[in-house]
Amino acid sequence: MKILVLNSGSSSVKYRLFDDGTTIAKGLIERIGESGGDASDHTEALQHVMESVNLDGLGAVGHRVVHGGTEFSDATVVDDTVATTIENLIPLAPLHNPAALSGIEVARKLLPDVPQVAVFDTAFHQSIDPAGVTYAIDADLADRWQIRRYGFHGTSHAYVARETAALLGLPATSAKVITLHLGNGASACAVSGGRSAATSMGMSPQSGLVMGTRSGDIDPTVIFHLHRVAGLPLDEIERSLTRFAGLQGLTGDNDMRTIQQRRDKGDPAATLAFDVYTRRIREYIGTYLAILGGADAITFTAGVGENAPAVRAAALQGLSPLGIEIDPERNNRGDRIISPDGAPVTVCVIPTDEEAEIARQVAEKLTT
Ligand code: ADP
Repeated sequence: MKILVLNSGSSSVKYRLFDDGTTIAKGLIERIGESGGDASDHTEALQHVMESVNLDGLGAVGHRVVHGGTEFSDATVVDDTVATTIENLIPLAPLHNPAALSGIEVARKLLPDVPQVAVFDTAFHQSIDPAGVTYAIDADLADRWQIRRYGFHGTSHAYVARETAALLGLPATSAKVITLHLGNGASACAVSGGRSAATSMGMSPQSGLVMGTRSGDIDPTVIFHLHRVAGLPLDEIERSLTRFAGLQGLTGDNDMRTIQQRRDKGDPAATLAFDVYTRRIREYIGTYLAILGGADAITFTAGVGENAPAVRAAALQGLSPLGIEIDPERNNRGDRIISPDGAPVTVCVIPTDEEAEIARQVAEKLTT
């Protein structure tokens, strides 16, 4: 089946065209709405996509949507009701859902006879037990304002967990895998038998691991303190914690490559940031070993996870009593399996492919 996958952001549209799982075209429309940009709005951006690829015989369009709330636990064919539900979820994802929605609306208009399927970053985590998604706050408030853990990066975690099970020849229905998606955004996930059992991001993609520009876990009192004692307005605190925190906040750089170069030269801020970043990963690995009752595999993915052997080695340092070890040569080469032969826990590096996973889910949705 021919499937067009669209990842619509506020100022860009990434697209990839698959034919029976093989990529036959891809591209990026950037700086939408900016002067000198590729398109003036999402309608024009999608028109560009449609002009640049051959959509003859197109079977479906798959849309990446960040937030599906509790409403969507699976890829979903978009109709008016689904579109309205995605719209109603905008308060939970004010930066992301509006762009996805405009992508969906434009594609429905331009390709009215082609099924449009929404694939949600949150959907994979709908399998987490209530105890794993409930914040211990006033239950009425939480209920009224939809406050709970949703988790994100689900498409990536689902993909690499399945690839890990396949690589190791483990039954997908029983494999226990800890997946570490370390990109600009970063999250950890405990996957049991192909289902998410725990994840580090929460109501928003702000919590959990240290990220390029986001803090990850902090005590919420930091916010009250910055507001009441330091006198910062709330929107400035939000900007600080989402855009000037994480690696950026600790060093002034958000790119792990730069942090590593600075650390190699003995820069104390970069050294501390690297240690904070890798220790947080280790803390989550410990937590998820406890949640899963042990793991068959730990898998690194995304920009940092796939390309930074020093991060992988530091994150797993000291875990050999738990059966977790790295073979330095394999790690430095970036082999698919970087643990020694016969290690109780296999450590893997698997490139993520969210678009391929979206196309797979769309095909599965429409053919079963
Ligand atoms: P996104 O979350 O935007 O999809 P990616 O998964 O592509 O991001 O990850 C981007 C990040 O990966 C960069 O900001 C950089 O920190 C990191 N990265 C990429 N290549 C390397 C490398 N060779 N060594 C260390 N970090 C890297």
